[in-house]
Amino acid sequence: MSEPTLFERIIAREIPADIVYEDERVIAFRDINPQAPMHILVCPKKPIPKVADAAAADDELLGYVLRKAGEIATAEGHGEGFRLVVNNGAPVGQTVFHIHVHVLGGRGFGWPPG
Ligand code: 5GP
Repeated sequence: MSEPTLFERIIAREIPADIVYEDERVIAFRDINPQAPMHILVCPKKPIPKVADAAAADDELLGYVLRKAGEIATAEGHGEGFRLVVNNGAPVGQTVFHIHVHVLGGRGFGWPPG
């Protein structure tokens, strides 16, 4: 067995987090180093390391994560405009190898992204 990811340890309540939503399939909590007034991470509880590792069997789960991200942004008062970011791999800045969607809002965002 590999070491549990940081986010599995948050799910297991071994590490504290400001959890804003949880159900049997996903957990969402505020990022410890927020990059916007709203910066929430939405994770499947299943520890898939990154998007490129997802299997066809994960399609429904990942769609659910995306829909929950939108619901959470709306519940936080940012339904009219929010940015979703999913880093895949260390070269683009992924640091926690457990799929998560960054849900960002409350300020403007440039395009193209940095
Ligand atoms: P990544 O760089 O993998 O896309 O995103 C990982 C995110 O996890 C970062 O934005 C980072 O600030 C956040 N993070 C790292 N450690 C912790 C922690 O212990 N608690 C919380 N809530 N967020 C964390």
